[in-house]
Amino acid sequence: MGTVVLKLTKEKQETVISDFAQQGISPPPYARFAARTTGCILTVYNSGKVTFQGQAAESIAARYGTPAAKKAPSTASNSLPADFSSWSVVGSDEVGKGDFFGPLVVVAAYVDQSKIELLRELGVRDSKNVSDPEIRNIARDLHNVVPYEYRILHNPEYNRMQRTMTQGKMTALLHNSALNGLLDQLDTPPQAILIDQFAEKTTYYKHLSGEARQVKDNVYFSTKAEGLHVAVAAASILARAIFLKEMDQLSRQTGTEIPKGAGAKVDQVAASLLLRYGAERLQQWTKFHFANTKKAQALAEKRNRP
Ligand code: MN
Repeated sequence: MGTVVLKLTKEKQETVISDFAQQGISPPPYARFAARTTGCILTVYNSGKVTFQGQAAESIAARYGTPAAKKAPSTASNSLPADFSSWSVVGSDEVGKGDFFGPLVVVAAYVDQSKIELLRELGVRDSKNVSDPEIRNIARDLHNVVPYEYRILHNPEYNRMQRTMTQGKMTALLHNSALNGLLDQLDTPPQAILIDQFAEKTTYYKHLSGEARQVKDNVYFSTKAEGLHVAVAAASILARAIFLKEMDQLSRQTGTEIPKGAGAKVDQVAASLLLRYGAERLQQWTKFHFANTKKAQALAEKRNRP
């Protein structure tokens, strides 16, 4: 099925809308007009982008303009197929690996080809460039638009598992579990699965060697995958929103604003919590094997000295 996206002037948009006024259907969010005609569904987005989808997409779109030249595929170096960014893809990403406080969160999200443009309209992009408040807003929209599956490894369980396995293995298990859950939800399998690469492919599957159900078909790994398919960007935004919510909860529980990351601020807050609640409680809120634990203990001792 063909998809053409045109960026049209206000005037041209009005022409499209009047040409298809008779065939209007109710537009999706962030669009002001949509129509279904023979062989084509077209949508006029608030941004001025107009999408044409279906067998007749190209011929109908050609009446109004020509699509911008396709960017050179940025996927070549990652050995992803050409046009990968316009496929129907499950993207998977994790958050919290480098944060002393809070859980490890993995999200797998499915973005059908027909939703790609909508997601761009919703502001889905590399989450590293998106502020926390915006993450929460976009996630709220995404929640209703894409099927997704999340896994949260809370600190007590994380610390238990950490005794017998690496963080890499825990991460791999969470990805595989989220992917299985999502694939079970979908009526048709995706064209591909793209995992934001945190380990080499061979290492990833070594981690899964004890698992009965390993998601293996059409799986691609790439670093910076958020920029290669919007499904990974969506997964990343959803994972970050879940992580933020968990951090809010920790802040409420501890009566302290809990910082992200693993820096000096984190050591200071951890030291205060250690003095107030003790090591056992601290363990329930942190990835206890991080070097921050020892640093916080040293700080707490220093503060305790008269
Ligand atoms: Mn990632």
